[in-house]
Amino acid sequence: MERNEDVEIVIVGGGICGLATALALHRKSIKSLVLERSDKLRATGAAIIVQANGWRALDQLGVGSILRQTAIPIKGGKFITLNEAESKEIPFGVPHEFRCLKRTDLMEAMANSLPEGTIRTSCQVLSVELDPVTHDQKLLLSNGTILHANVVIGCDGVNTCIANMVGLQRSNFLPFLTCVARGFTNYPNGHQFGSEFVMMVRGHVQLGTIPVTEKLVYWFLTRPKTSQDSIISNNTSLIRQSLMESMKGFPTHAMDMIQNCMLNFLHLTDLKYRPPWDLILSHFRKGTITIAGDALHATGPFIAQGGSASIEDAIVLARCLAQKMHSAKNNAIRKRDVEEAFHQYAKERKMRIFWISLHSFLIGKKLDAQSFIMKSIIIALMVILFRDPDWHTRYDCGTL
Ligand SMILES: Cc1cc2nc3c(=O)[nH]c(=O)nc-3n(C[C@H](O)[C@H](O)[C@H](O)COP(=O)(O)OP(=O)(O)OC[C@H]3O[C@@H](n4cnc5c(N)ncnc54)[C@H](O)[C@@H]3O)c2cc1C
Repeated sequence: MERNEDVEIVIVGGGICGLATALALHRKSIKSLVLERSDKLRATGAAIIVQANGWRALDQLGVGSILRQTAIPIKGGKFITLNEAESKEIPFGVPHEFRCLKRTDLMEAMANSLPEGTIRTSCQVLSVELDPVTHDQKLLLSNGTILHANVVIGCDGVNTCIANMVGLQRSNFLPFLTCVARGFTNYPNGHQFGSEFVMMVRGHVQLGTIPVTEKLVYWFLTRPKTSQDSIISNNTSLIRQSLMESMKGFPTHAMDMIQNCMLNFLHLTDLKYRPPWDLILSHFRKGTITIAGDALHATGPFIAQGGSASIEDAIVLARCLAQKMHSAKNNAIRKRDVEEAFHQYAKERKMRIFWISLHSFLIGKKLDAQSFIMKSIIIALMVILFRDPDWHTRYDCGTL
């Protein structure tokens, strides 16, 4: 039977972006409801790299200091090429804050800071439409409930149903030819990686390792997609076997790390991206609906910025909404104020997410490129546009 319910602000999706948005609004004393389709909060992908810009945003959310206790700071790194007879090592510095967080730690820190009742799991939004009488947004949920909301924020990732409503089609997400496996390896007696980020490359295979704690290491492996991937992706033993096969020629300690990984965290992911030019052409808002996070700007993991950019979205969105709502009587939600707030949000975020998307897109396409000419063109573009590879970490999304 159909049930009706009225809510002021609904956030669709309880991933990193949805929780960050709810928390940012909560810090500004604005109530929201997060609807998550899964039966519990998901933390797929083991860990996430958070760099200085992400830490600034987490500090604004008030969870930075708790999370710093869960992940060691990375001080430097080395890039190792295994193609030659003798391997070549290039050390690099990490001049800004850089840590690797367990996704569960990040999600828990945000969820635990929200008032009880903010997150509703097992609540899939099937459709959203404008009520012609009340001018509210009508959300149909999988349990038959119809929610009437003044404001809808789509944080529903790459399978978004909200992006279509603001003129960004879900079908516009495109696949990379590269896929990524991610996992954890636990070293009960401590690992030998210190506080270094190590990238090893051999042919089309790249392996990155980053310590999370003194005993836990996060790693990711990128390699070209194969026709077998969809078959093996539900079986962690087969994923591991396939990774070991792609790692021929890697040092023994790297092979051991994959062999001894924690199978319950192992994941093989197809990579999708929203073309950067989509972001330039769209206002990503319509009336009192907007989108944030991967639903807006899925980029692939190549500059490790998607999650941090999603938290930045949350800060800017909440700040713009709060500025308008706090100037209204009783913090009331007026349609025109929300529209102006979303206009400001889109204006502040557009170029930031465009450049992040373009940078990640070029790196992804360089990995995908088969011809020397295409690779050279992409490298030339990157040298011209992104001479400083760390430009994105200096960005400050400002105070909440
Ligand atoms: C391989 C890989 C590695 C990465 N590494 C990094 C990294 O190191 N650093 C970094 O900053 N970023 C990284 N990223 C990017 C980062 O993971 C994403 O940008 C981030 O998780 C996006 O969060 P989100 O909340 O927008 O989307 P999601 O995490 O996809 O969350 C969307 C949520 O919405 C829910 N949902 C979807 N549809 C509905 C619906 N209709 N109703 C209700 N709920 C719904 C889903 O169940 C999900 O929980 C990586 C990405 C990949 C693929």
